[in-house]
Amino acid sequence: METLQDKVALVTGSGRGIGKEIARALAAKGCKVVIVDLKPGPKKDNPDELTPDTVKETVEEFTAAGYQAFGQYCDVTKSADVEAMMKATKEKWGGVDVLVNNAGITRDAMLVSSKNPLTEAMWDAVYETNGKSAFRCTQAVLPGMYEKGYGRIVTISSIIGKHGGIGQANYAFTKAGVWGMMMTVAKEGAKKGVTANCVAPGFTRTPMVEAIDSKILNEKILPQVSMGRLVEPVEIAHAVVFLCENGAITGQNVEVSCGYLG
Ligand code: NDP
Repeated sequence: METLQDKVALVTGSGRGIGKEIARALAAKGCKVVIVDLKPGPKKDNPDELTPDTVKETVEEFTAAGYQAFGQYCDVTKSADVEAMMKATKEKWGGVDVLVNNAGITRDAMLVSSKNPLTEAMWDAVYETNGKSAFRCTQAVLPGMYEKGYGRIVTISSIIGKHGGIGQANYAFTKAGVWGMMMTVAKEGAKKGVTANCVAPGFTRTPMVEAIDSKILNEKILPQVSMGRLVEPVEIAHAVVFLCENGAITGQNVEVSCGYLG
């Protein structure tokens, strides 16, 4: 097994949820972690209040735990933000060794609906955040990885990208697409020390899933899972660490779903 000690690991969307657990697990392996998330802004439901500063909170929490953590506000849908984040990381720690493309959103709607059909704006928002951001961040880190002859890239896909999901055409498109992209990065980087893989979570215990009505969760969602339970974020994080520690696995899309039945 390879060591991750002192590698620089950048995890997008790591202020909370799955991304935060991935950053924690990499930090526990000795990585210097870059915590990346959106800058606080006005809350949608109450514009007089700001959203929590999850970057600051996470950096403080990790530093108190003895980990090396550095925070960056970055909207991954904006090229200028991504460029500034990569520049700051290079100045601080000399470039990225491990990239985890985790930031993601959903904008669910049926393709055909008399009330709320899927719109181009919903398609574009999901495509920019889940899909094009992986291209932006991956392309930005690859030259440095090639130069060092070492790099680990993991993109968080989804069971929905493998099986489809009702009302999720836009989301499924991006989550299937990132695997195609990672297979390509795997081929292009194979002789340059770079591996590229996906981890495909099933329904995972994050605020997004906990917000689902408990009746729908128990009667519709969990019956589709062989083990009848949600995946824990730390279980996704362990799969990411496993892929980063093994230089012989590349181009794969590892499902961590408690046995999603599709
Ligand atoms: P969360 O919504 O809990 O966390 C997503 C994080 O990404 C948040 O910190 C969010 O910031 C951040 N983010 C969103 N948009 C941007 C942006 N434009 N730039 C930077 N950061 C951004 O989601 P999860 O932890 O549940 O999901 C993480 C990944 O796992 C996603 O890619 C998701 O699609 C995937 N996934 C999740 C599953 C689940 O069951 N939870 C199942 C399958 C896949 P903010 O807090 O400001 O919104």
